[in-house]
Amino acid sequence: MTNILEVTNLQVSFSSYGGEVQAVRGVNFSLKKGETLAIVGESGCGKSVTSQTIMQLIPSPPGRIKDGSILYKGMDLTRLKDEDMRKIRGADISMIFQDPMTALNPTLTIGDQIMEGIKQHKRISKVEARSKAIEMLQLVGIPNPEMRLKQYPHQFSGGMRQRIVIAMALICEPEILIADEPTTALDVTIQAQILDLFREIQQQRDVSIILITHDLGVVAQVADRVAVMYAGKIVEMGNRRDIFYSPQHPYTKGLLNSVPRLDQEGELVPIDGTPPDLFSPPEGCSFAARCPYAMEVCKRVYPLESNLNAHHLVNCWLQDERAKRVLHTI
Ligand code: SF4
Ligand code: MG
Repeated sequence: MTNILEVTNLQVSFSSYGGEVQAVRGVNFSLKKGETLAIVGESGCGKSVTSQTIMQLIPSPPGRIKDGSILYKGMDLTRLKDEDMRKIRGADISMIFQDPMTALNPTLTIGDQIMEGIKQHKRISKVEARSKAIEMLQLVGIPNPEMRLKQYPHQFSGGMRQRIVIAMALICEPEILIADEPTTALDVTIQAQILDLFREIQQQRDVSIILITHDLGVVAQVADRVAVMYAGKIVEMGNRRDIFYSPQHPYTKGLLNSVPRLDQEGELVPIDGTPPDLFSPPEGCSFAARCPYAMEVCKRVYPLESNLNAHHLVNCWLQDERAKRVLHTI
């Protein structure tokens, strides 16, 4: 499978009174055509900032891309002019957020809102836009689309509203869909329906999905690959099986231990301790202060990347034979 997106050494910081928060500290990953990559981690780990940076939605200032690149179809999105990025946003790469209510305008019919996106990006007649909107509502499983186009957001349930937001995100047939906690605001049964919808859409449309979540139950249901983020870095990445059945990083293991069973919905129970202060992140492993296996080398040098198989990467000194050598050189 070809890579549709390549993120290399992405570094994003935010300036504030206390100094500079290093929110994303050298993130690398690629996204393949038609796959779902889940980025998982606790709140504040940098997963949302990463996705907003792909969309170039980081408010600047205070945000700043310090380094790195985001390649999409040969273009580096971090260097694109606002005007060019506007053409890509919504058309090639779309994003949906946690709370469908904030994404919808209460004073406009959902028909107008769904059609708005396509009118911005494509020369299209009103009749064509309307039939496209009907097609999208059918795709996301809203019955009676012709009638419902004329209704307002408050006339829909929360789950239905999230379906509408997904319809809005898909109307231009984007190649990449970024979903940031798309089911967190919904109750469990509706969550499962929305996740089923993601799977269906992916099969029908061959769209690539980046799913940002703190919920491993969600990851287990839809992800092909998983990137585990901690304190602004990806600490482990692999296929779903690698992550769920042979996790290597103590942080990944901690996350998994907090979920009773993989096939059940599971909210993460936080691991003891708190993530490091990202005003002045530690030099060594960011997880050292919470890690039961932390060694001297962990506190001093950030762990090198190890390849466990072609897809499975981890940054941890625990099983890494290079740890001793590195300790001798410092
Ligand atoms: Fe724990 Fe050391 Fe691995 Fe970090 S590098 S997770 S501190 S064992
Ligand atoms: Mg977030």
